[in-house]
Amino acid sequence: MSTPPVEQLSIPTNENFTDALANHILLEQHNRLPDLTDVAIFLPNAQAVQQMRQSLHRSLSEGCYPQSSGETSSYKGHALLGGFTGSLEQWLNQHSISSINGLKNNTTRKLINQSTRQLLLIEALKRHPDLFSAENHWQVCDSLLELFDELGLSQHQWLNESTPIWISHLQQAYQANEEIAYLSQEAGMVRTLWHAWQQQLDAMQIEDKPSALKQNLINTLAHSIGHNIEEQTKNKTGSATNTLNNTCFYIVGLDQLSPLEQAWCEQLSQHCHVKHITQGSPPCSNRNSGYEANDHEPNDPEPRDSDTSEKENPSENNELQLLEDIYNQKKTFFERTRDYSPAHVSDKNALPCFLQKIKLYDAQSAEYEARAVDLKIRMSLLAGKTDIAVVTENRKLARRLRALLERAQVSIQDTAGWALATTSAAAILERWLECIEQNFAWQALIDLLKSPFFCEEASRAEHLKLVYRFEQDIILHENIAADLARYKNAIQHRQQRLNAGSAHSTASTAEQLLKLLTRVETAAHELLELFNNNQNRTSDIWIDSFIRSIKSLGIYPQLSSDIAGLRVQQELEKLSTTHSITRPELNWQDFRTWLGNTLEREQFKPHNQNAAVKIMNLQQAQYCQFDTLVIAGANLQSLPGTSSQQTFFNQSVRQALGFKNWPAKKAYCFYQFKQMLLSADDILITWQAEENGEWMQASPWVSSLQDFTQFAFKHSLKDEQLGFLLKNTRPVTRHSTELLQQIETVSQPFPRISEAQTPIEFSASRHQRLIDCPYNFFASDVLKLKALEEISLELMKSEYGEKVHLILQAFHQQCPGLPAPFKAPLCNENREQALAHIKNLSQQIFKTQIEDSVEHLGWLNRWLDTAEAYINWQIQRQHEWKIYRLEKTAEQPLSSGIQITGRLDRVDMHNHQYSIIDYKTGNSAKQSEIDLAENVQLSSYASLMEDVCNVIYLKLDKGIVKQTGILEGEDLNQLKTDVIERLETLVNEIKSSSALPAWGDTHSCVYCDMGGLCRKQMWEVF
Ligand code: SF4
Repeated sequence: MSTPPVEQLSIPTNENFTDALANHILLEQHNRLPDLTDVAIFLPNAQAVQQMRQSLHRSLSEGCYPQSSGETSSYKGHALLGGFTGSLEQWLNQHSISSINGLKNNTTRKLINQSTRQLLLIEALKRHPDLFSAENHWQVCDSLLELFDELGLSQHQWLNESTPIWISHLQQAYQANEEIAYLSQEAGMVRTLWHAWQQQLDAMQIEDKPSALKQNLINTLAHSIGHNIEEQTKNKTGSATNTLNNTCFYIVGLDQLSPLEQAWCEQLSQHCHVKHITQGSPPCSNRNSGYEANDHEPNDPEPRDSDTSEKENPSENNELQLLEDIYNQKKTFFERTRDYSPAHVSDKNALPCFLQKIKLYDAQSAEYEARAVDLKIRMSLLAGKTDIAVVTENRKLARRLRALLERAQVSIQDTAGWALATTSAAAILERWLECIEQNFAWQALIDLLKSPFFCEEASRAEHLKLVYRFEQDIILHENIAADLARYKNAIQHRQQRLNAGSAHSTASTAEQLLKLLTRVETAAHELLELFNNNQNRTSDIWIDSFIRSIKSLGIYPQLSSDIAGLRVQQELEKLSTTHSITRPELNWQDFRTWLGNTLEREQFKPHNQNAAVKIMNLQQAQYCQFDTLVIAGANLQSLPGTSSQQTFFNQSVRQALGFKNWPAKKAYCFYQFKQMLLSADDILITWQAEENGEWMQASPWVSSLQDFTQFAFKHSLKDEQLGFLLKNTRPVTRHSTELLQQIETVSQPFPRISEAQTPIEFSASRHQRLIDCPYNFFASDVLKLKALEEISLELMKSEYGEKVHLILQAFHQQCPGLPAPFKAPLCNENREQALAHIKNLSQQIFKTQIEDSVEHLGWLNRWLDTAEAYINWQIQRQHEWKIYRLEKTAEQPLSSGIQITGRLDRVDMHNHQYSIIDYKTGNSAKQSEIDLAENVQLSSYASLMEDVCNVIYLKLDKGIVKQTGILEGEDLNQLKTDVIERLETLVNEIKSSSALPAWGDTHSCVYCDMGGLCRKQMWEVF
């Protein structure tokens, strides 16, 4: 019996595809109207499905589909009883045998997901260690699965044959006349794994998605054919019903189906009415499908007989001819443009056909491109357009555009979706794993604690305050970069300071922080043990421990409060159910890759079906018509893009075998791009022209369009109006000339403050800041701004100073948690014991850091040299002075309503007179600065006590202990009076709104953190 011809319909590229198809179907199915339940339309994307349904309903209810001559539609205003409109896969799922007649599917195999497939294949690869080294398993896993999908859905009859037959077929594909060693090796490897894979699926009675699709194809067709035969027999007795033979199939995008699906369509056409629909001329299909068109080759680049409409309408024909001429590579550029030169066209000013509807915009940066698209969309919305599409393959651009549009409260439907790995819900899981791997390194830990998924909305503000204190007081101030135990130790040591700001809560800050870290520690315990053991464990142990840990942390329930989080939760649950199929042994890295691959592969699509603006890719926009279309990111690297490296078989072999390959993909993208150019009445194409000062190439398809228009019509497609509007629009802030003028004025700042803002306490350092630079005082002490502290793994010099102060205090008096002081008076006889005591004390105090690095050991040794010099100095000193107080805090009220305060390192006494000592482990002020009251520290200290005989700086560094500055006698009394008087005058002036100018000298500015605020570098040069 000869095969009946498959009917073809080609809809011209310049027609609204879904409207034209709807009209065709309604005309063809006129006798069934309005009941089209036996019509199935296969379309390859959801957007086209939606538009197809609308076109059918509109065409019928408005009666606008073509009628036989003289007839008027009797169904005008009627509702349509629709049939199936969707993808082939969806139709198969609806019509598998079990759903047709309630019979149980002849296969009881369990369907497995991609994550389970990965585990199964990894297990199989481990069983064949001779094929790939263990470290490459994950790299080849995805490529192999992709290849298996292609093999499974191919029509190659030799797949179950022996290796020599595989080799001979691959040899043909490589066009090699003789056997090549690596070819045999590749064929042998792929065949071994392919067969092992098939056997494993069979043995386990499971199937993956491609196998299920294959089975569905076979079952549906077998049922249809079987039923037909049965029906023919029964028809003789006059009773039978067939489910499919009355159905008419309209198949769009056959060239995008796999060879097996194409073969299924061909077989279906032998039993049912099947029509293959194309638009324009799709590129040559390389698939080895065995499917042959009867009236013409579907990919024939020449116009076809069925495209009668293209020939009948001259203006449409011109349009299609112009499109062909723009991109025809068979003629020279001159030949193609010659016919369009002004001498040959009547209207010399007008652009012909669809070119009038296209504008191009080359943006100076990625940000400008996003803003250009944002502006275009908002203008279209204001013009009343309700169907706007942004087609882009550049996800970064899409993300930025989405942010801009959301800020303008424009709702968007992002049909392309996002990889789950890019969502904040997945980011917190990654941070948690990093905490485990990096011993709770501070960056990962802080990100984890600050994540919105870490705690409930109601307690988030309190929680974030607590995390802020942890970051500032423990991580930054204590300079602890990792390790939960060290964080906790530091919290315990610093309880007093932490609790200073804990008025917001009943429990102390330290207690709350310890509780928080204990929660983290408990949650991590099991997973940390697995990680530290560094052993292989079955996959279910890894994933279950991981889920338990995030449940214990409280993250898991929080995920369900967010739609992306819910998707992450679903994927985690799917991973945890894989154990019912397989539980291969994995190490930590395998587990990380498995989880990471899943989050990278699975998509999150925020749903907003009614949005006027849709972001999609080329594939999702095919066969659709829009009011406004923006093709964004039209640079060479995304349109058409570049070929990805294939692990198995080169591009030409893939082409010969009918697998996905770069030349076919590129050709199909080009075909889709050309369709796009005729799919809207308002089209903007944008691309980024520059990046970091380098030119970026536009897509060659866009360049051809631009060059052709320029040369043939002497017309630029550049969207000048958009460029103008962008330059003159400030989308981010309201434009205000006055404000801008103020901002651009660069002058020395003179802020003023009120009496209420004036600080009451003046420590020596605050006092010094006011003298050095009033603006620095304003920024630091009134606005309370602080430079961001940086975490450093090295012991900072300031911390070294703090430790030395503590050692000297603990050497002379009992400090909590430290050994007893050296009580005996120092003398030459007990010098060695004193030295041993101070060494022991020093080691104990430095201990928290010296474990970390040799640099810290260097700081300890530097101090131990100095400690000996200190003992010698103290032996001399105590002949006259006895220690009176250590670390003494003091305050002194002044008449202006303020008080000076200070913490004195040491106060010695002799004959009821006092000597105040300030230890210096770094630089101290020069004597001249002290005498001229430029340095106020010593005079401030002197003001805190009565009967002060002298105030000295004692430098302790690099093995030397010596006095480097002193105030005593009459100078001390005079300076003390002068300095206090000056402070009182200044404070009174500040309270009465005197300015606080930035006048720091070079020395002050070097150590000042407020340079970026006072902008001295700017106004100093003007
Ligand atoms: S940089 Fe100099 S002028 Fe500016 S605030 Fe600091 S000390 Fe004052």
